[in-house]
Amino acid sequence: MGRLQKIFIPFLGLVLAFWFYSARDTFKPEMLRGRRVIVTGASMGIGEQMAYHLARMGAHILITARTQPRLQEVVQRCLELGAASAQFISGTMEDMAFAQRVVREAQTSLGGLDMLILNHVGASYFGFFDGDVEHVRKLLEINFLSYVAMATSALPMLKESEGSIVVVSSMAGKVGFPFTVPYSATKFALDGFFSSLRQEFSIQNINVSITLCILGFIDTERAVRAAAEVLRERPAPRDECALEILKGAALRRRELYYRYSSTRLPLLLRDCAAELLDYLVRSRYRLPAS
Ligand code: NDP
Repeated sequence: MGRLQKIFIPFLGLVLAFWFYSARDTFKPEMLRGRRVIVTGASMGIGEQMAYHLARMGAHILITARTQPRLQEVVQRCLELGAASAQFISGTMEDMAFAQRVVREAQTSLGGLDMLILNHVGASYFGFFDGDVEHVRKLLEINFLSYVAMATSALPMLKESEGSIVVVSSMAGKVGFPFTVPYSATKFALDGFFSSLRQEFSIQNINVSITLCILGFIDTERAVRAAAEVLRERPAPRDECALEILKGAALRRRELYYRYSSTRLPLLLRDCAAELLDYLVRSRYRLPAS
């Protein structure tokens, strides 16, 4: 008992101290003032909200997605909110040449890049895996390969600015989720690629941060339309989610969990009680009686 106290109490103290200091919020909006930022998938949802927060903070913003009229409206609103500059480039991330063109546009019009926020997501279905391998391939191109292509093209500029790559992922990219098999696969791929790349940056002393964002259910239009009927939990607000992503990115965190209670905490079970975690994931859904 004495020995347990001698070891356990200092250890607990260390864990609590680490948690307290690492969780302290030292973000200031000025950190992003004048920064040159690309946000993908910014015509709606979380990406649109990130563009508005960045605008209020006085950043230079380059946004992209496919729907030109929506991008025009978002750019207009960004300028009204105080963006140092705002512009868009429209196209599809199915096309790797387009993904690379977006990055070149930052070089041409902003003279460099401080932050690359990879956020877009291709449409998929909500239901049992239907065996459509071609859909998996297409989704991997949009949700994964275009992220790789953009990060690769942006790296010289990010090295120069000692900037950041922000990868928006999901709980479905950390633990198996039913009904979103192709989507989940693309998000796991992002974790594998960018977490390995972070290791190499560390070995090579490359001062470019990589923040992987693990999100729970967020109240964006498409997500609510697809899942609100079947998910038992309430979605978290997209504007708050967008701000938390930017804070994590500015603070150069390796991973960001939002909301913490529905993402980080359940994931603590992954290594010690994986089947319990699987059960908890399944219990989030209202399943039809079989
Ligand atoms: P939305 O569906 O609201 O927005 C997706 C964005 O991606 C839109 O701007 C869309 O614009 C763009 N997009 C879609 N397809 C393409 C394409 N082929 N080429 C280029 N752009 C495309 O998504 P959310 O805001 O809900 O999600 C944002 C991120 O957060 C995603 O990475 C998602 O996986 C992640 N996430 C979201 C959760 C949620 O519950 N909402 C939960 C967990 C993670 P357009 O159609 O004009 O091209």
